[in-house]
Amino acid sequence: MKTLQRTLTIIKPDAVRKNAVGDIIEQFEKHGFRILSMKMLEISKHQAEQFYAVHASKSFFNSLTNFMSGGPIVVLALEKENAIADLRKLMGATNPANAEEGTIRKKWASTIEFNAIHGSDAEDTARFELGFFFAGFELAK
Ligand code: GDP
Repeated sequence: MKTLQRTLTIIKPDAVRKNAVGDIIEQFEKHGFRILSMKMLEISKHQAEQFYAVHASKSFFNSLTNFMSGGPIVVLALEKENAIADLRKLMGATNPANAEEGTIRKKWASTIEFNAIHGSDAEDTARFELGFFFAGFELAK
């Protein structure tokens, strides 16, 4: 039996700056994702550090958290069968130089850091990331 899955995506500050929000949301809908909840906001440096805590030891952590707290983002809770893997596929590779034609990163990412979109990479991270941005009542659908 196929089961619905939820995932968290972020349209990153670089993509918001490029007016890519509408195009990216259209891709979600065209590919069968249901938008459960969505909001535009800015996060602080501290909040970006909490969200990306798994990368705290990486050389790019400071730069990444400055980037993610440097302008508005759009966060969405998405639902479909196989949502986590299907969103990762639609996003494309982390480094846009390796992203396949037709992916969001191929179209909108500029560098390995300014790569337009985030998507949860597993069920446990999806649970943490959905809970980071959305309260229970916002996802009770
Ligand atoms: P993702 O799951 O494809 O987003 O990739 P990761 O979880 O590995 O990395 C998280 C985010 O950190 C990426 O989306 C990029 O914005 C950034 N990032 C990853 N690798 C690098 C890197 O080698 N250099 C820099 N500057 N940023 C990186």
